[in-house]
Amino acid sequence: MRRLLSLKPQWSAIAFFPRFKSSTCVATGEPTFLEAVDIYFEKAAKLAAATPDILNQIKACNNLLKLQFPLKRSDGTVQLIEAYRAQHSHHRLPVKGGIRMAPNVEANETMALAALMTFKCALVDIPFGGAKGGIKVDPTKYCLLEKEAIVRRYTSELVKKSFIGPALDVPAPDYGTGPQEMAWIKDTYEQLRSDINGSACVTGKPLEEGGIHGRQEATGLGVFYCLREFFNSEDCVNSLGLNLGIKGKSFIIQGFGNVGRHTSTFVQEAGGRIIAIAELGGGLVDESGAGLDVGQVQRYQEQHGTISGFPRAKTVLETSSLLELPCDVLIPAALESQIHTGNAARIQAKLIVEAANGPVTPPAEKLLEEKGIIILPDLLLNAGGVTVSYFEWLKNLNHIHFGRMSRRMEEHGKKELLNVLEHQFGNGNRLSEEVRKVLTKGNTEADFVSSGLEETMLVTWEKVKNTAKQR
Ligand code: NAD
Repeated sequence: MRRLLSLKPQWSAIAFFPRFKSSTCVATGEPTFLEAVDIYFEKAAKLAAATPDILNQIKACNNLLKLQFPLKRSDGTVQLIEAYRAQHSHHRLPVKGGIRMAPNVEANETMALAALMTFKCALVDIPFGGAKGGIKVDPTKYCLLEKEAIVRRYTSELVKKSFIGPALDVPAPDYGTGPQEMAWIKDTYEQLRSDINGSACVTGKPLEEGGIHGRQEATGLGVFYCLREFFNSEDCVNSLGLNLGIKGKSFIIQGFGNVGRHTSTFVQEAGGRIIAIAELGGGLVDESGAGLDVGQVQRYQEQHGTISGFPRAKTVLETSSLLELPCDVLIPAALESQIHTGNAARIQAKLIVEAANGPVTPPAEKLLEEKGIIILPDLLLNAGGVTVSYFEWLKNLNHIHFGRMSRRMEEHGKKELLNVLEHQFGNGNRLSEEVRKVLTKGNTEADFVSSGLEETMLVTWEKVKNTAKQR
């Protein structure tokens, strides 16, 4: 189940970008994140039927835009904001990838994440090239108005440079951003361009701004679908000496943001026990044996701005130590390079599920493999987000929500069929109104989205599993 890339043949990468001196290096001797992505690429490339020159083209980042613009802060001072947009491959258009807001954003990290997007879209057969954006700020240190000013200025710079548009480059949420930021992006774009498809310039928007049902939880749900497949497969669980099913298995989550929260919720609903959550500023360890109640932790986080101090669990300030506790499954859902040579030897999980992008460094992966730990790779595991973004983009281009033309028709057809069946075979009996309602329900947008997401994840899961077995 290693990191296999399904590389598509049609590529047109053009320019090779110089590598910048990087700041994201977790331990001495560790590769940077971009180097790590290159290492994984080279490993997969050995299995691809493509010539070295084509592989070099596939690896190269096409465009990198660096921006610097001023922000007038609420205290009157002016701050210089640094930001990036990397477009890794234009072999399919538009290019697609999230926008991150974090203090450690830099050029190489953005290019690494953009490359992962290209490979991820190819893997799940979504017709986009890869991109990524980053704004080098800690969003928790800015008020709402300042954040809005940053996002709007960033967007207007992208518009000026033709780095955004429904047919060019379509951002989405990533670390430190969410539906609110996407709404600002859409609004700014539409103010600057009269484009009938303007709302398709960004995905992950709030519903009332042209978003789609299910986008918020899509990445976590995609992670869950793969986990469910893993635990329903005899050969997968046997290889770890575990029994079938998620029920009763112990999970540790790193990062209780969008991806971590939704993944934990689906795991808990399937009977998994969340025994610890690692977060910045303090994590939680369950002492009840039943697992943390994810909903309660989330409500506490919403009220207090932190999970630290949640009353029905033990708070641990040394949060990275939580990754090293014994458990069945460790789910890093925060940032890259979190499992490295400095902690890999102490990891006791049997399975690592890469919900974050690039959370395990290549040298750490080697150590984990030697210990018999299986890693489910990010390219597949967190592809649910871009999959549902694709549906949102299609919805925006079609100017109609899924199910609008078909839902009532389906319901009428099903009702007709039930009437005929009851008349023919019911012996005068009628189904209850409740049962009739369930049987005759037409598909809503939410139904289409979850079915399309499940189909995408399961088809790709099987392909990856079969490829892993063959190679
Ligand atoms: P988020 O900002 O919503 O949440 C991330 C959380 O991780 C935050 O709560 C943060 O405090 C926490 N965190 C950061 N560093 C930590 C550390 N060292 N230890 C413990 N917690 C830490 O971000 P997100 O959208 O959930 O993204 C998380 C990861 O998933 C990123 O790698 C992102 O690229 C990837 N991803 C996100 C999406 C998406 O749809 N949002 C899609 C695909 C991949």
